[in-house]
Amino acid sequence: MRFAVLGSGSRGNATLIEADGTRVLLDCGFPLREIESRLAAVEARPAELSAIVVTHEHGDHVAGVARLALRYGIEVWASPGTWKGASKATSAAESPRLRLFPSHTRKLRIGALTLCPIPVPHDAREPCQFVFEGDGRRLGVLTDTGTVTPRICEALRDCDALMLECNHDPELLRTGPYPASVQQRVGGAFGHLSNAQAAALLARIHHSGLGRLLLSHVSLQNNRPELAIAAMRGAVSGIEPQFAEQDRCSGWLDV
Ligand SMILES: [Zn+2]
Ligand SMILES: [Zn+2]
Repeated sequence: MRFAVLGSGSRGNATLIEADGTRVLLDCGFPLREIESRLAAVEARPAELSAIVVTHEHGDHVAGVARLALRYGIEVWASPGTWKGASKATSAAESPRLRLFPSHTRKLRIGALTLCPIPVPHDAREPCQFVFEGDGRRLGVLTDTGTVTPRICEALRDCDALMLECNHDPELLRTGPYPASVQQRVGGAFGHLSNAQAAALLARIHHSGLGRLLLSHVSLQNNRPELAIAAMRGAVSGIEPQFAEQDRCSGWLDV
């Protein structure tokens, strides 16, 4: 199994996951032209995507989903709540082909990939994150959650690679440019994970088989890479975190 982060952050998210000939795009928060060019950067053709899977209806995850799906006839997988919210966030007039699943579903099968949805506390209708299984490997993806729940901890054990939200540093958020209401939203129980919250989660689920850690959904205004890295190094030893960037594709990464 391998994956490529095509962009990560509040200005757009998309990640490509591949196992044994099945390619799934997780979220598409970019306009059609932009996602076409980001896919081309890893030599992926939109028409060959097996599915687009959507975590929740915020624009940075869903803005380009309907256009891409309709243009290339790709199925969209989402929770019913997410799709209800998404129809407001997307500008496409018609609906793509949908495969709706309750966010509490234990396992979904898309070709050679098995997806385990994880319901998360985030200010959307029915948000979830995922563990992807394929080729005997496990990739955990956790962004856009305000709190770490027992279900999240349980689901992310035994991952071989992990994309983990390190959204903000609370002090930079407090003194940063966001209005007070947005600060409260981002730092609240249904917002985004701080460096310290992410580090505490990492300490609980870390094991010797976790070979790759990608710090994701990092705020450009309210965080700094060195603070996120210091938090991770304080939580576990012997880990070399990488960053998922907003404007640069990660290239293919093995799980
Ligand atoms: Zn987001
Ligand atoms: Zn969100």
